[in-house]
Amino acid sequence: MLHGLPALMMDYQLTLTPIMKRAKTLYPNKQIITRFGDNYHHYTYADFYDGCGKLANAITKLGVQAGDRIGTFAWNSYRHQELYFAVPCMGAVVHTLNLRLPADQLTYIINHAEDKVIFVDDSLIKLLEPLADQLTTVEHYVVMCSGDTMPETSLPNAISYADLTADCSSEYEWQEIDENSAAAMCYTSGTTGNPKGALYSHRALYLHTMSLCMTDSFHLSETDRIMPVVPMFHAMAWGLVYAGTMIGADIVYPGAHMAPADLAKTIADTKVTFPAGVPTLWLGLLQELEKNPDLDVSSVRAMPVGGSAAPRAMIEAYQYKYDIEIIHAWGMTELAPVGTVSVLKSHMLDWDDKAKFDVRQTQGWAVPTVEMRIVGPDGEELPWDGETIGELQVRGPHVIREYYNDERSADSFMDGWFRTGDVCTIDSEGYMNIVDRTKDLVKSGGEWISTVELENTIMAHDDVLEAAVIAIPHPRWQERPLACVVKRQGIDSATLQTEILDLLGKHFAKWQLPNSIEFIEEVPKTSVGKFDKKVLRKEFANYQFPD
Ligand code: AMP
Repeated sequence: MLHGLPALMMDYQLTLTPIMKRAKTLYPNKQIITRFGDNYHHYTYADFYDGCGKLANAITKLGVQAGDRIGTFAWNSYRHQELYFAVPCMGAVVHTLNLRLPADQLTYIINHAEDKVIFVDDSLIKLLEPLADQLTTVEHYVVMCSGDTMPETSLPNAISYADLTADCSSEYEWQEIDENSAAAMCYTSGTTGNPKGALYSHRALYLHTMSLCMTDSFHLSETDRIMPVVPMFHAMAWGLVYAGTMIGADIVYPGAHMAPADLAKTIADTKVTFPAGVPTLWLGLLQELEKNPDLDVSSVRAMPVGGSAAPRAMIEAYQYKYDIEIIHAWGMTELAPVGTVSVLKSHMLDWDDKAKFDVRQTQGWAVPTVEMRIVGPDGEELPWDGETIGELQVRGPHVIREYYNDERSADSFMDGWFRTGDVCTIDSEGYMNIVDRTKDLVKSGGEWISTVELENTIMAHDDVLEAAVIAIPHPRWQERPLACVVKRQGIDSATLQTEILDLLGKHFAKWQLPNSIEFIEEVPKTSVGKFDKKVLRKEFANYQFPD
């Protein structure tokens, strides 16, 4: 009763269960396809629903109870999709483990989350075996065999998926769950020190899914064939598994086959319309397409790209050469994860191409379920004028309110807002443009230099494959930028260096230009394929600029 009036709406819980049930009721024959080697495993949403029931019964048999954490250590596949639903819908928490993390971080995460069971792909057991005696809470390992046979393993209490589910019925009595109960968890890989856990509620994931499916967000449709190339162990695969299931789209999983040539083949074989992943992947695919013009990606209509800044040259290349719309998005594990999407507004549609790409290369406006602001060093809110730079802060129903059991939470929140650690501008239309991570900015003579903008411009040069800019300590200016560039094979370094500096000179003031350019073999990448500037900074720790 509020203001003397009763609330007349149903108290309907926003959970993942109705999403799962709806898919089998409305779209029983739509396809979920997983690549295994040169073959594809096909099954339907009806099969998926039965699989979830079987899995829920099997987990119950293992003694799993509401609130228990169930780890997954797996590539993207239909089985992983079942875990994404069956575990939370029976009341437990699906905890996706990043299989590319070093052993000490993985051990920390599994012990910190207190995972009770871990589902592991048979191809990955060798990565878990050496850790097993330090994993103090894990009672069972379930090996998700791709063939019929269970491999030899030293994992204690290991059972094959087939044996675990053999006598389980696909009928399961899904109980109503409180929408605020925990559904899933994921640890961030972006921090220094031990990773921090984000624990998502059903409600958060439900609302995130709705937000993602909106026409002006990812404009997804039942007619799409979505391929989450972004791993399911990273930031909940950007919510695409839940979104695809909610709308009954076909879903294609690349399995362990993530190399550009493999992705091109999967796209061509299965007619994917909507592949999603970090820029590194799509830069790789672009090179592959150039090398091999017979590859057919004509089924692709749009491609969400995020996780790090999508270079403008890449957005343009896909649009002009392949008629593929890159939807540039920004997000964080802490947001479940999508926060902004760069989609043109109606009054921009007849702008010329240059003006449109100026907008599309930004990270875009906040989705309806996220509010954002920029804040200055003293906590003051800064104007949305497209120029003033400040820290990005966000809040909303799918933003975490604290890290899971972590004393380090306090620094990351301010007056009910989450401090993202990203530095950006926001223009009067609400388009946010990431300038840098706080710790990656170059502070030269008291002025900030954006490494992301420099990188974007350098990567627009045809002979550049990758570019990362880092700060190098400087006796006079405090810090100065160094550009680390990967060039195409056979290109002359001296000529390219001059051309890059000429190119930068057209867009930046002299004091913003890198003091020097070093040519490197490859930009080091994080476990999820982003440029790893921590490693680069270490490699250039004793670097001296030439006189
Ligand atoms: P993660 O939680 O691993 O997804 O990392 C989140 C961080 O990735 C953000 O705080 C940003 O620094 C970065 N990031 C994500 N999307 C973008 C984007 N479109 N452009 C630039 N940086 C991004």
